[in-house]
Amino acid sequence: MERPASVVKEAIENSLDAGASRIEIDVEAGGTRLLRIRDNGAGIPEADLALSLARHATSKINSIEDLEAVASLGFRGEALASIASVARLLLTANTEAESARGHQALCEGREMTVEVRPAPHPRGTTLEVRDLFYNTPARRKFLRTEKTEFGHILEVIKRQALSRPEVTFVLSHNGKQVIHYSAAHTDSEQKRRVAAICGKEFAEHTVAVERSAGPLRLWGWVAEPTFSRSQADLQYFFVNGRVIRDKLVSHAIRQAYRDVLFHGRHPAFVLFLELDPAGVDVNVHPTKHEVRFRESRGIHDFLFSTLSRALGDVRPGHASVTAGPSSEGVAARQGAMGLEVGGLPGSPVSSLEPRHLKGLSGAGGGDASHYYARGVGTSSAPQPEFSAGSAEIPPLGFAIAQLHGVYILAENQHGLVLVDMHAAHERITYERLKGARDTTGITRQPLLVPQTLSVSAREAAICAEQAEELAALGVWVEPVGEEMVMVRELPAALIEADAEALVRDVLSDLLEFGTSDRVASSMDELLSTMACHGSVRANRRLTLPEMNALLRDMEETERSGQCNHGRPTWVQLGMTDLDKLFLRGR
Ligand code: ADP
Ligand code: MG
Repeated sequence: MERPASVVKEAIENSLDAGASRIEIDVEAGGTRLLRIRDNGAGIPEADLALSLARHATSKINSIEDLEAVASLGFRGEALASIASVARLLLTANTEAESARGHQALCEGREMTVEVRPAPHPRGTTLEVRDLFYNTPARRKFLRTEKTEFGHILEVIKRQALSRPEVTFVLSHNGKQVIHYSAAHTDSEQKRRVAAICGKEFAEHTVAVERSAGPLRLWGWVAEPTFSRSQADLQYFFVNGRVIRDKLVSHAIRQAYRDVLFHGRHPAFVLFLELDPAGVDVNVHPTKHEVRFRESRGIHDFLFSTLSRALGDVRPGHASVTAGPSSEGVAARQGAMGLEVGGLPGSPVSSLEPRHLKGLSGAGGGDASHYYARGVGTSSAPQPEFSAGSAEIPPLGFAIAQLHGVYILAENQHGLVLVDMHAAHERITYERLKGARDTTGITRQPLLVPQTLSVSAREAAICAEQAEELAALGVWVEPVGEEMVMVRELPAALIEADAEALVRDVLSDLLEFGTSDRVASSMDELLSTMACHGSVRANRRLTLPEMNALLRDMEETERSGQCNHGRPTWVQLGMTDLDKLFLRGR
């Protein structure tokens, strides 16, 4: 136990293990004066009360098989004992739903004598922890301000609340209620909880993810690339309900966002990975924030492919119907209109219509329902293109003009679309170049002078073990000694690249993740530069048919919501937006 938040975390995990559907947390003075965690779970039998406070007493493991497939959150049987050793602890519980006859164990001081007596309590358990670290001044000194410690508690509760939407969480600080997350059962209630925890902006700029493959299931929300953060502070990844931080996971996610994220920005996500508990070792670190996957390569591939497909669909008419940087007013306005509420888990992300309707029930959809209900063309006379009926109108609509040689203006069923012509064309060219490369494969080219590198013995060994994987990446590198390898061939497109740096990066990736995207990302960079040079420059006059062709290409192209540098390629200014600008309908 290093701080009040760690006590709260252990207590909530116990409550969840006990099947609680409601958990109330009272905090005083940042948790140093009082922490009270009350639940409506199974309670603790009188006979076990004293035992629960003893070290290595856990009711959760009865056999070796249990140990191997640890599904419950707590399993060390140490939490209560170590809390008891540094605070005045009171544990009250009742196992019967019919009566309020509970029992209470009081434990104080180093000698840890426990006294049990009757005490009224409804079914469930209340853990009360007073004067944390009162007997260990050295640790008390390490505590930060009340506000900081409370902030840590808040973060612990947010994580738990994200992972267990069906549980009600109530938090008070110094007698004032700070959080009340009601149990969320439906998709829209769940989405509301995500909005409450991660912010409305996030909830409105997400793409829903949901995929199962064999024993693996991934679901949750990832932010559209144009909603990125300057810090990695909105990243929640849960493995079987437990929040974790893991290099393999971050690598797979970063790889999925590779060329859609603005340089130096961090993606935002709330993701849940579910797998057979036997496939993951959660016991590698005492705070259980780290995990080890048995099939790390398979997990990496599954995460990467699922997320890159979800992000690939961020294009007009797909997972999201608008684009725009979240940091600017445009996005805020879009958010207010509820135009782009990401799909919910399990919802299809294929067609335009169902998404609009689904989005309406989500957070911030109130405005949108009104907007969509009015339909198209009721406010103004339909344009010739629109007479064929709204079913015929493509997501980005039809071009009406070009502005200063930079932007295309188009009319679609929601209103006005603005397209950055160069940025959009660049993405289209880039995706085409990548597609061509992927169908023809990577051509290798021998180095004029093969290059020797000294590496670690593990890295040298991996060159032989993963020769096939390396060949597929266009790299031929042979071990020529225990700690020496020779680079003979590289991808033709990267023949001018820094062979040493590239090979070193590839080898270390293979060691750590079992896979490497270095070659692909170096080649992508190259293609991206080529695409930039090969795309329409600003100030080129386009005809209407040319502009329309570009709009259609955007709709067909993966990731076309952002240019190769992660900037948005288009924004929607809907009729409601425009009406607001002109104070219409007020
Ligand atoms: P662990 O959770 O690893 O078993 P703890 O020290 O956290 O160890 O808890 C010890 C035991 O006390 C648990 O195994 C459980 O039987 C009981 N216990 C603790 N908190 C609760 C609770 N909120 N509801 C029901 N039982 C609890
Ligand atoms: Mg526990």
